[in-house]
Amino acid sequence: MTKRDYYEILGVDKSASAAEIKKAYRKLALKYHPDKNPDDKDAEAKFKEAAEAYEVLSNADKKSRYDQFGHQAFEGAGGFGGGGMNMDDIFSQFGDIFGGAFGGGGFSGFGGGFGGGGQRRVKGSNLRIRVKLSLEEIANGVEKKVKVRRKVQAPGTTYKTCSTCNGSGQVTRVTNTILGRMQTATTCNTCGGAGQTIDKKPNDADAQGMIVKEETVSIKIPAGVVDGMQLKVNGKGNEAPGNGISGDLLVAIEEETHETLQREGDNLHYDLYVSLPDAVLGTSKEIDTVTGKVRIKIEAGVQSGKILRLRGKGIPSINGYGKGDLLVHVNVWTPKTLNKQQKEFFESMREDDHFTPKPESSDKSFFEKVKDMFS
Ligand SMILES: [Zn+2]
Repeated sequence: MTKRDYYEILGVDKSASAAEIKKAYRKLALKYHPDKNPDDKDAEAKFKEAAEAYEVLSNADKKSRYDQFGHQAFEGAGGFGGGGMNMDDIFSQFGDIFGGAFGGGGFSGFGGGFGGGGQRRVKGSNLRIRVKLSLEEIANGVEKKVKVRRKVQAPGTTYKTCSTCNGSGQVTRVTNTILGRMQTATTCNTCGGAGQTIDKKPNDADAQGMIVKEETVSIKIPAGVVDGMQLKVNGKGNEAPGNGISGDLLVAIEEETHETLQREGDNLHYDLYVSLPDAVLGTSKEIDTVTGKVRIKIEAGVQSGKILRLRGKGIPSINGYGKGDLLVHVNVWTPKTLNKQQKEFFESMREDDHFTPKPESSDKSFFEKVKDMFS
């Protein structure tokens, strides 16, 4: 199945402003909302599709990646945790978009609740943070403590069963039509579908009995994560009022550039420069790895362009099996200027047939080396 273009889904053009994108999504979400289209699979699919498009286009970072690479930008590791958004994800983003559009209106109700398809517990909205990691932290896995400002129920807030719906979150309306009496269940306006309203709350709490509190959250980051990947810490987003469930904390991984090591998947590359005499005579050199410095031997007569492979000195696979390698690229450093004496020294060697290049089969061609690297 080919995925539709996100702009096409929302019916906006590429130059649309953030406000226009939000407005377009709001319209679609209201139109295809499951409460309005019970048991309509087509509407549900459209609802999810619009939510996914909005998730990407409402985020400046993801939007620019999508504009550059299209859907490919989110395939694999950087995507939505592997497989599409679920309804909870979608509803949790509504807090920001709709305010109290669904079931709002009630004075002490919890705007943002959802009735309709059976009882749905109100979920707090998700929080998003970015975490910068060094290559060493990525290679070894790390536990990061981050400060998060999240909404929590204010101490002293108490809730009571909603007297309008008796806690069911829904009210049944009976209307007389030409076809007879019809019963329809709709979300309770008083409590927004949560089944509870505020009983008592302290003065510093908001209308839902919530306060904002700074908390330190500890995040275990497994070895092998990739720039752009998103981790989820369950329940560390905003708390919901009453007996609702907390949102999640979504952690976007950012990889810092390393001074000497370049990452390519699970493999690492290191550029090593050796002097002419070292290349001729052989030596040993200290190089950086993600687990500290190691000393490697450089054979006498090493050729520029040789790649030394240190097995298992790369990044562990995020899937938990195997490790990448560290590939050391040997560059023989040639001086650009010489004094008179040095010049004479090299002139004298030039005459000597011993220094004429005679490549051996062991000095593989560039293409053979590349083939080697990927085997
Ligand atoms: Zn109610």
